[in-house]
Amino acid sequence: MRELRIPVLIVGAGGCGLSSSIYLSELGTRSLLIERHASPGQLPKARYLNQRTMEVFRQIGVADAVYARSMPLKYISRIRWCTSLAGDGPLDRKTFYAIDSFGGGSLTHYRADSPCESTLYPQVRLEPLLREEAERRNPGGLLYYHELVAIEQDRESVTALIRDRESGEEFKVIADYVIAADGGRTIGPIVGSKLTGATNMVDMVTVYFRADLSQWWDDDHAMTTWFVNPDGGSWSSGVLGKLGPTKFDRHSEEWMFHFSFRPDDPARFDQSSLLPRMRELLKLPEFEPDIIGIGHWVVEGVLADRYRFGRIFLAGDAAHRHPPTTGLGLNSAIQDAHNLAWKLDLVLRGQASDGLLDSYETERRPVAERNVKWALMTFQNHPLTDVGIGLVRGNAEVSQSNFAAFFADDDEGRTRRARLNDVISVQRMEWQAHDLELGFYYDRGAIIADGTFPPERDPMGGKYTPTTRPGHRLPHAWIEHKGERKSTLDLVGKGAFLLITGSDDATWATAARQLAAEQGLHLEVVSIGDTGECIDIDRRWTSLREVSSQGAVLVRPDNHVAWRSRGPKADALKALRDAFGKILMLDHNAGQTQADTTRLAS
Ligand SMILES: Cc1cc2nc3c(=O)[nH]c(=O)nc-3n(C[C@H](O)[C@H](O)[C@H](O)COP(=O)(O)OP(=O)(O)OC[C@H]3O[C@@H](n4cnc5c(N)ncnc54)[C@H](O)[C@@H]3O)c2cc1C
Repeated sequence: MRELRIPVLIVGAGGCGLSSSIYLSELGTRSLLIERHASPGQLPKARYLNQRTMEVFRQIGVADAVYARSMPLKYISRIRWCTSLAGDGPLDRKTFYAIDSFGGGSLTHYRADSPCESTLYPQVRLEPLLREEAERRNPGGLLYYHELVAIEQDRESVTALIRDRESGEEFKVIADYVIAADGGRTIGPIVGSKLTGATNMVDMVTVYFRADLSQWWDDDHAMTTWFVNPDGGSWSSGVLGKLGPTKFDRHSEEWMFHFSFRPDDPARFDQSSLLPRMRELLKLPEFEPDIIGIGHWVVEGVLADRYRFGRIFLAGDAAHRHPPTTGLGLNSAIQDAHNLAWKLDLVLRGQASDGLLDSYETERRPVAERNVKWALMTFQNHPLTDVGIGLVRGNAEVSQSNFAAFFADDDEGRTRRARLNDVISVQRMEWQAHDLELGFYYDRGAIIADGTFPPERDPMGGKYTPTTRPGHRLPHAWIEHKGERKSTLDLVGKGAFLLITGSDDATWATAARQLAAEQGLHLEVVSIGDTGECIDIDRRWTSLREVSSQGAVLVRPDNHVAWRSRGPKADALKALRDAFGKILMLDHNAGQTQADTTRLAS
């Protein structure tokens, strides 16, 4: 049987696997990606890319290509709750409430915290774009219509049995490491991964269609509208969202309509009922959309007990799956890959011990745990909104009378509207989760804690506080670097650590250069100050850095702070050498103990 040898085998070409392939290529580590389908998926699936994901894409040179095609922020800056899109009844075409979303509208503080805006780009278009980017960086390194059918590992390597689905040929891939980005479908069950949490919550049915809704969709800035209609009985609500691809206002050419079914409801597979439901909810009896596809997605809120099984790492949906609320699935899948890729690269180069790879689980699993809980909570906010609106599911008569009272120009109407304002403000957890998106941090792992406490977190996830505390994402500040306007995040390059110092003292810089030469480390140094090659143009970095002008901040290749010194140190070289020893876990052999020999086959 034919055998291929490769440092990293990636299984699955969703957002996680494709991003992993791009990162590894950017770092110069060879990988092979296999995907069981012949081409990327045909359904829109997730569409929101948050600021952190766009920062990651910026670092690996993909952001411009995404922004060139994606829906700009201003067109996704509002979420609405309405009665219907059309109709001329007294309760038709009414808006209950609208909330600013994702950094748009009044949420101007998002702009100060990141060089990137959030955007909308559905998976049906993102995956082909990422595929193109991945293939350009790694020609021949992506095999579509190939399936992993069995996998086994020992202390030295992983052997995967791959089937070419076109020819039927089977061959072996022998890899140092495997990224299981397969959505949890194959490798997790083989290695014995246990996912716990809420399963089978709802069957989300998505109707993906083309239609001209411009004469009814009257808010160009709205990304999504929740329709709440008293006549629909238990079918009283559904969600309609824009998809572009070339027009982003009311003239959007493509749309998707989500309905939630009970997972045991036989009606969920009755496709003939979906169009009548859309017509009824929108109050467009003649509506004839051009349906492109219908998808089912059983929503869960689950987390894997382990992310590492010897030389195999679970990432993305294979490690955690959550409801779509807050848009964390695709975003955190891409961010998992970002955390793992540079660690694999350094270990494969022999610059870090295998123990560094343990930090992938130590760091990312607690973030996913919080995300799963958050997504479950925000999912559960929706019934709260229905109650605030006055919708009584299954009782059209009471709902109708509540709705009429809600819109009435009298004291009761004003009270009902004020009540909804209070109740619905909890929805900011979902569409204004700025801290959840940028403020997540690692308490343990490949970082050196400095005994400080994290900034107090906004329990509603909105208020993000930048900090250089180890484990947190490097704060963004605009600086002028060699005459060019850049973000501090742009200073962290491909696979390199970055030491940021003040411009007053060259001790840290000298020590860092000496250490880099001594250990062959990819370590860049930059001094940010009022003068020199890197200028703190508006002194924002100085206000954020939390170290003195004689201190230093060491940033990892994934933009998270690894270590910092608040001021000067008597022996800067020793301080840095010790820091790198711990971050790269150079005296650590724990990985070998984790590399439990598993002989597994499907
Ligand atoms: C129908 C649907 C609708 C969704 N809608 C939304 C939404 O509206 N909002 C939202 O936030 N999230 C949504 N999601 C979830 C979101 O798509 C995921 O969180 C995201 O895709 C995770 O990316 P991933 O790369 O980890 O996994 P996936 O995108 O699942 O990719 C895994 C890939 O692995 C491949 N694979 C599996 N087994 C093998 C094997 N043995 N050999 C080779 N290849 C294999 C699969 O074919 C697949 O391409 C939806 C998911 C689905 C399925």
